[in-house]
Amino acid sequence: MAGEIYRAFHERSVKDREGFWAEQARLIHWQKPFQKVLDFSRPPFAKWFVGGETNLCYNAVDRHLAARGDQKALVYLSTETDEEKPYTYRELHAEVNRMAAIMQALGVTKGDRVLVYMPMIAEAAFAILACARIGAVHSVVFGGFAAGSLATRIDDARPKLMVTSDAGMRGGKAVPYKHLVDESLRVAQFPPEKVLMVNRGLDKDMKLVAGRDVDYATLRAQHMDAQVPVTWLESNEPSYILYTSGTTGKPKGVQRDVGGYATALAASMKHIYMGNAGETMFTTSDIGWVVGHSYIIYGPLIAGITTIMYEGTPIRPDAGIWWKIVQDNKASVMFSAPTAIRVLKKQDPAFLKKYDVSSLRHLFLAGEPLDEPTHRWISDALGIPVIDHYWQTETGWPMLSAVPGVEKTPIKFGSPSFPVFGYDLRLFREADASEAGADEKAVVAVVPPLPPGCLSTLWGDDERFVKVYFSMFSTKQVYSSFDWGIRDKDGYFFILGRTDDVINVAGHRLGTREIEEAVQSHPNVAEVAVVGVADQLKGQLPVAFAVVKDVARIATPEARAEHEKEVMATVDKLLGAIARPGRVHFVTALPKTRSGKLLRRSIQALAEGRDPGDLTTIEDPGALEQIKAALGGA
Ligand code: AMP
Repeated sequence: MAGEIYRAFHERSVKDREGFWAEQARLIHWQKPFQKVLDFSRPPFAKWFVGGETNLCYNAVDRHLAARGDQKALVYLSTETDEEKPYTYRELHAEVNRMAAIMQALGVTKGDRVLVYMPMIAEAAFAILACARIGAVHSVVFGGFAAGSLATRIDDARPKLMVTSDAGMRGGKAVPYKHLVDESLRVAQFPPEKVLMVNRGLDKDMKLVAGRDVDYATLRAQHMDAQVPVTWLESNEPSYILYTSGTTGKPKGVQRDVGGYATALAASMKHIYMGNAGETMFTTSDIGWVVGHSYIIYGPLIAGITTIMYEGTPIRPDAGIWWKIVQDNKASVMFSAPTAIRVLKKQDPAFLKKYDVSSLRHLFLAGEPLDEPTHRWISDALGIPVIDHYWQTETGWPMLSAVPGVEKTPIKFGSPSFPVFGYDLRLFREADASEAGADEKAVVAVVPPLPPGCLSTLWGDDERFVKVYFSMFSTKQVYSSFDWGIRDKDGYFFILGRTDDVINVAGHRLGTREIEEAVQSHPNVAEVAVVGVADQLKGQLPVAFAVVKDVARIATPEARAEHEKEVMATVDKLLGAIARPGRVHFVTALPKTRSGKLLRRSIQALAEGRDPGDLTTIEDPGALEQIKAALGGA
């Protein structure tokens, strides 16, 4: 069982919600106090800290100026360009004010959306914080996404401004952004009026579009002494949109509030991550993901911590780089993902011993299942608790975790421990929504209201929010995580994979439907099925089975290989390389039921070398034989 102290803490958080969260809300600054802690009069919509006014940028930056203005707030570190540039809270404040003034000069006002499509450079953090300062709603799109993904997100959010850069860098090579940006703006129906370009000098061929593209350095020079007043926002106004994949091809715009998010992050920094003001946190994610939003930018800064913004891989210049960063910056909290640890595990273990990492108190891992051998390996290697914790883009902060700031409970390998305070998290049987017993696989769900910090709705679509997340059971309106889980008799949870067609590649969530749509856009593809196949390193890999229109194009093994490359390039172009299938197999039919439903689970089972299950409903058994043959021939 969870320790007694933590159990009582958690129980209070769900039984006396108002009392508990009113206390946590004291961790942040409120310009105007809230009148009501929770308004749950329109379930499942929860409003936290109603009537209160605050600001994320003020809490992350301004509030620290008096006590820690000269402390480092953000350290930009790039092993790609060999740069290291620290910014004190005072310097960060100045940069954010300049960026905010530029945005205002470009016509951005409260409530306008700003799309941030940036590599891991300090200017990305300035842009995010500047939006928060002036009450603009940021929508950060991961730099690895290509023009098609970008255009979909542009059209959903309809941004007034886009902030971008000439290029990112990966593995020592520049990854130009500008042509993707131009292409996305060409196909988008609602392109922004202006594009603010942070020119890193990495793409010599880059050309600005007159009247639309403006140069950041030029404008910054005009706003050096800018002082932009904070726009105070009612706690429930939107702070940002972050798109995530689902079962349909259309990404979901997770919308976050202001006061609830700031409070939840502050509470998590204290009780879960145990980060104290003046210390350093190193989170290895990217600002394009929720972990980057919550634990590279807002969480550590709200807590007065120095955050590391790292542009680079875990193994360049060598596999000791992360531990060197921990040592040099005396990081006490580190947050990473299982795939990265599996990458390091394949390297020389001596790299782990080369640096003094004694400043580290905990390593937190999330984003995908953490297998027991990897959990064990990294725990032994570091000699500190390695905390697997589970959450989603939607929740914004952990749902299952050990909470060492409240009580140090023993870690079980492979388990993200217990429900986090604020979450009335349960396991419900899929068949009848009844509560599952110990050691019984069921759906991980949260009985609403969702705690502060979680999504307040989907951007512009309240109906979809209710339909997607709260309609799994007809008899109970609960938030479905779409994950299977199990709780052992000691109360420890284990996550057993998704209940839907979403796959997880190296901690990145991808919708198989989205990839299918991209593959299908190739003129010679009539139909396609994409499934997630278990992968030793990345957890899962997308694998495609495509029916071609003109079989002459795959007549020889060489032609087939060439065609496979071409289809992969189509995915790269539309979605980005992260969504590229590991293999594209060509077949002439896909296995379906007589009613035309794709037998995805059977295809996936075959691709993983498992039994395809019940096939009594199959329309054409020959289609399955083709899948087998295609895999056999791989
Ligand atoms: P994302 O919203 O992209 O962060 O993806 C969230 C999904 O990643 C969850 O619904 C889970 O399927 C998976 N996930 C996140 N953290 C964990 C974890 N600690 N263990 C197992 N799966 C996880």
